[in-house]
Amino acid sequence: MRGEIGGLVDCFLPVCCAFCDTPLTSSTQPALCPACQNALAENKPAACPRCALPYPDYGGSDHLCGDCLQHPPPYRTVCALGIYEGPLRQAIHRFKYQQDFTLAAPLGHLLAAAVRRQGLLPDLILPVPLHPSRLRQRTFNQALLLARILGKQSSTPVARKLLRRLRPTPPQQGLSLDGRRHNLNRAFALSSPLDGESVLLVDDVMTSGATVAACAAVLLENGAQTVEVAILARAAKGT
Ligand SMILES: [Zn+2]
Ligand SMILES: [Zn+2]
Repeated sequence: MRGEIGGLVDCFLPVCCAFCDTPLTSSTQPALCPACQNALAENKPAACPRCALPYPDYGGSDHLCGDCLQHPPPYRTVCALGIYEGPLRQAIHRFKYQQDFTLAAPLGHLLAAAVRRQGLLPDLILPVPLHPSRLRQRTFNQALLLARILGKQSSTPVARKLLRRLRPTPPQQGLSLDGRRHNLNRAFALSSPLDGESVLLVDDVMTSGATVAACAAVLLENGAQTVEVAILARAAKGT
């Protein structure tokens, strides 16, 4: 009986925007009002087509950054929903650190749309793994929640346990790029080899790119044909 009443109440309660709580007129996904959809997904300046590094001159066109020209990363491209600032940064903080899971599906749907627009058609989707000790601390892997939504939206299998983090990575903040790469050496491994699949790696935020580069290198060494990356937000240099 209680369940029935709960169901009836749900029918009459308006669906609200997951970010600002404005009542929505339809219950279609993403559960965001148009203003929040724009705020979360439209902040896309010119960027490096390889690593998605944003350029501060918003009027410019996409071009490879110095790092990608000098040291091409192992992944083919990075699809980012936007820059790690403003409303997108707030939404990620609420999702990741305040465990506001109502934001997982809207953010995942926006990212799935960005992946479709970029024409990425992977055989397999992999979340960037957390080390078990970090997973116990946080209780969930935000990359896995996003990967599941992407997989469902594109009917692509998600291999949640294929890529493993072998050791906890000390905080990367404050380290140079070389320091970050060294920090991540041999931090990841595959539980079984791949057989020529194209892989989409999923994570929430990309800062230096050292983590996804380390994952991509291990995947390519173990049979992946190509590795592409999908992230919610790309941090600008120096953030
Ligand atoms: Zn809203
Ligand atoms: Zn780049």
